[in-house]
Amino acid sequence: MHCPFCRHADSRVVDSRTSDDGASIRRRRQCPACTRRFTTLETASLSVVKRSGVTEPFSREKVVNGVRKACQGRPVTEDDLALLAQRVEESVRATGIAELDAYEIGLTILGPLRELDEVAYLRFASVYQAFDSLEDFEAAINLLRAEHEQAAADESSVDRSTD
Ligand SMILES: [Zn+2]
Repeated sequence: MHCPFCRHADSRVVDSRTSDDGASIRRRRQCPACTRRFTTLETASLSVVKRSGVTEPFSREKVVNGVRKACQGRPVTEDDLALLAQRVEESVRATGIAELDAYEIGLTILGPLRELDEVAYLRFASVYQAFDSLEDFEAAINLLRAEHEQAAADESSVDRSTD
């Protein structure tokens, strides 16, 4: 690893620590030339296999670009999108699988996007799951509606129990 200060071609590891969740290793390094110290963070690389068979590194930016169009005209900020991409990466890493196909990435986007904005979710799902009829939309909307009703029922039962 090059020294970021003087560009010396080598550095020495002086300390290594695994993060609490075990997903990364932080290393403290020292440059033998200028003696300055710096930290590196090591995480397993995540790959995405595209439909064409091409493998590329997972990128949060690509997740954001993928959902941005579905969020057009919706009350969704750039921060919301960044947070969504972060949640997608966390759930992808949590699977422990180093290589996922683009379809699986899409699946992990659906959950957090639905929490963020249901209209954007329906738009994204319609493209991603290739809705080809009004019935497909109807089924997706009915599912959302049923979950709203369930959530409302849960809430009112909580209200009653606190009386
Ligand atoms: Zn140096």
